[in-house]
Amino acid sequence: MKYPPEPFRIKTVEAISRTTEWERLSTIQDAGFNVFNIPAEKIYIDLLTDSGTSAMSDNQWAGMMIGDESYAGSKNYFRFEAMIHRIFGFKYVIPTHQGRVAENLLFSTILKAGAGQVIPNNNHFDTTRANVEYNGGIAEDLVVDIAKDTQALADFKGNIDLDKLERLVQKVGAENIPIGMLTITNNSGGGQPVSMENIRKTSELLHQHGIPFFIDACRFAENAYFIKKRESGYGEKNILEIANEMFSYADGCTMSAKKDGLVNMGGFFATNNKDLAEQITNRLILIEGFPTYGGLAGRDLEAIARGLEEVLHEDYLAYRISQVEELGDRLIAAGVPILRPTGGHAVYLDAKNFLPHVPQSQFPGIALTVALYTHAGIRAVEIGSLMFAHQDEKGNTHYPDLELVRLAIPRRVYTNSQMEYVAENIIELFQDRENIGGYEIEYEASVLRHFTARMKPLK
Ligand SMILES: *Cc1c(COP(=O)(O)O)cnc(C)c1O
Repeated sequence: MKYPPEPFRIKTVEAISRTTEWERLSTIQDAGFNVFNIPAEKIYIDLLTDSGTSAMSDNQWAGMMIGDESYAGSKNYFRFEAMIHRIFGFKYVIPTHQGRVAENLLFSTILKAGAGQVIPNNNHFDTTRANVEYNGGIAEDLVVDIAKDTQALADFKGNIDLDKLERLVQKVGAENIPIGMLTITNNSGGGQPVSMENIRKTSELLHQHGIPFFIDACRFAENAYFIKKRESGYGEKNILEIANEMFSYADGCTMSAKKDGLVNMGGFFATNNKDLAEQITNRLILIEGFPTYGGLAGRDLEAIARGLEEVLHEDYLAYRISQVEELGDRLIAAGVPILRPTGGHAVYLDAKNFLPHVPQSQFPGIALTVALYTHAGIRAVEIGSLMFAHQDEKGNTHYPDLELVRLAIPRRVYTNSQMEYVAENIIELFQDRENIGGYEIEYEASVLRHFTARMKPLK
């Protein structure tokens, strides 16, 4: 079967309401034409993010009932630790309440302010970049060039460019690179996977220069599934074996369990380096809590342990990846421009080519998110000029290369018929695209303006 069906049945349901177009017009107006300002209750299909939006299983909910809320040494911590040993293999396991805290602990420990240290990555996710820069480091994105071509079909568009990595080491010196990283899958690069060969060679290159290698592991299971399907030599291996091999090349990892942990909150840091683990544990006690709970309740640790086991199931991953792929295929068949191939967790509409009559100065991505909401109650997110355009000292505006609208698919949440609804409505909008006009900014904050900006339609 090209698109395998859901490997679960539904035991609990959450009602969602389909508002009228008239109601949505008034809602979006009140929200200043910014979908971040819409109350979630007024949304029918919410594709704002795949982070923390997963549906937990009956097994995970059952695990929450045996939460051991002891301050120290909760039994759930030991299950959490054992599961991380089993999949990731790292010796020291430090729970955190989400992924960015693991990043904060790591970078505040290894970076020295004002030292000009550099962290290479395929693409830093925005919280990773922020934690590197806040702690005085320079975040370098070294993804392969083909990743920048939205229409190029390649199996592993998340790979780091090893030549660029070697050149960086030569240029700045290994002593100024405290660690190197890979983000799997590459979230900021469209959820594209990284090959096992690239992970292994990155590890070899860094280790030759004495540089430790860490993985941003948020979507490790989705990445492992792509390796199984696309990389020769892995078709017969199971997801656990592939994950074991991926992490065997690394010295540690950070992870947001809100992605492939299949939970609504949680994360961790793990490493084989004893000194680093000790320093990070001391900081953890300062900002998160005792080392066996790290900002989480015992029940949360149990839910993560069980989620990490469930995410390895191949029938789940086959359904997951193909649900995203099927949405992409439906759009491609209707001529809708999207970033190709579809990645693991989202479909990205190419707003510049979807609305060629709306210039970047008029926010085509915003125009499309507003149209999606008013037409069908679907919430997506703009990754374009509102998020990234900036002015230089002379007052010239610089626009990003791409104007994207991301449709992130929560895990195990929406049925395939709801995805069909999404595809059909996008296709309807595409056929009626001349009637979608641009926007201007009415209010903007000085930092991270996309979250709170208020917009106004142009005539
Ligand atoms: C979500 C995410 C993070 C940050 O995790 P939070 O749990 O949101 O703090 C870091 N890296 C990547 C690749 C992510 O997708």
